[in-house]
Amino acid sequence: MRRRTGAPGGRAGRVTAAALAPVAAVAAAHIVPAATWLPRFRVRCFPRLAGTGRPDHIALTFDDGPDPVCTPHFLDELDRLAVHATFFVLGERVARHPELTRHIAQRGHELAVHGWTHSRPWLPTPGRDLRETARAAGVLYDTTGRRPYWYRPPYGILTSGRWAAARRVGLRPVLWTAWGRDWTPDATPASVRTTVLADLRGGGTVLLHDSDHASSPGSWRVTLAALPVLIGICHDRGWTVGPLAEHGLDRRP
Ligand SMILES: [Zn+2]
Repeated sequence: MRRRTGAPGGRAGRVTAAALAPVAAVAAAHIVPAATWLPRFRVRCFPRLAGTGRPDHIALTFDDGPDPVCTPHFLDELDRLAVHATFFVLGERVARHPELTRHIAQRGHELAVHGWTHSRPWLPTPGRDLRETARAAGVLYDTTGRRPYWYRPPYGILTSGRWAAARRVGLRPVLWTAWGRDWTPDATPASVRTTVLADLRGGGTVLLHDSDHASSPGSWRVTLAALPVLIGICHDRGWTVGPLAEHGLDRRP
């Protein structure tokens, strides 16, 4: 008996390819905007998205809090250094720690949306993206009385669904121009500082983490220890350090 194999060039293959084409198109539309994750590509091609601001200023940003174990140490150290920052927080953690969230704002820092949970967006889920982004912005407003303006997706992976959700909720996506790779298990204060400074120019936005929620356990201590020298070097270079709100980015969505 002859086997009917459905080889790629046959009718079955054509049907399969035709059936998969819309899936591939959806997948591409979902993930291609996430190429903005590539830092140097982003800085060159999407300076607004990268957070390139006024050249005499560095925006200091922390992701993944609020965390009752770690975040208070950052608030104390930033007080000591007389610097304010932007904290990209997770909605479910804001809901769990409303007092700490209010405390961040009361100490003069800016709060922004990092999503509801720290999820990876491998599959398109536009409904969920919108629901969760709106929920995260809503809990921040309910907790602090201030509407957040900035959005940075978990892992910096800005899919088309997350992009659209942020815009619908009235948030502006901002990624970063320099990071410290402070989430890795072998990070040291010196490595964080060197890694940040390798890509940092005036007008840059620095990504660090005030929690080890999605990082190597205890890595926040390395980040904390890196801050004084890093900020000192910024000052030596004539840059002021502050939150995104003071970074000279225009407020167009
Ligand atoms: Zn994160």
